Amino acid sequence: MPTMTMTREQLSALATESLTAAEEAFAAHRQHAAPAMSRIQCVAGCEYCCHISVGVTAAEATLIAGHLAGQSRLKRDAVLRGLKRVAGVATGARLAKRIACPFLAKKSCSIYAIRPFACRGWNSADAEACRRMLETADQGFPVPVYRPQRELFAGAAAALADRLGAGASGELCAMVLKALG
Ligand code: SF4
Repeated sequence: MPTMTMTREQLSALATESLTAAEEAFAAHRQHAAPAMSRIQCVAGCEYCCHISVGVTAAEATLIAGHLAGQSRLKRDAVLRGLKRVAGVATGARLAKRIACPFLAKKSCSIYAIRPFACRGWNSADAEACRRMLETADQGFPVPVYRPQRELFAGAAAALADRLGAGASGELCAMVLKALG
């Protein structure tokens, strides 16, 4: 069903269903991939990658917008200011100016449970490489990744984008602002 004919509730439900299915598939994968995955160095509080632009579908953006609507006015307004500041700023400029994702709070993702597919897929086998990517503002800096994780969530995001039709994807901040109306 194309995005334009779907209600916010339908879009949020579709995002939740897709995210849950992808996490279940990933949990099954982890059961036999523990040795390979042990090289991943991502830990709570490491936030280098949260300075890169993130792509989302309209369904993910609507789910996040709904979550924001339920926050206190103080929190919502702070995030809104951040979304407006960051929307449309390219990754290169964000790295150079160290502009973090507006959902990053105290070095943690404030929307962790509903974070986008792109964030779920990102991983690094070398935190030092992530640090250097940020320090050099070089989005092409080679960061070794565990590919199956990246591919599983990228595939799920692509399947969701296909279901929603053309033009239903974009940059996280711009898409959440759009979903907020
Ligand atoms: S949504 Fe969360 S995990 Fe993704 S870039 Fe923003 S703060 Fe980081």
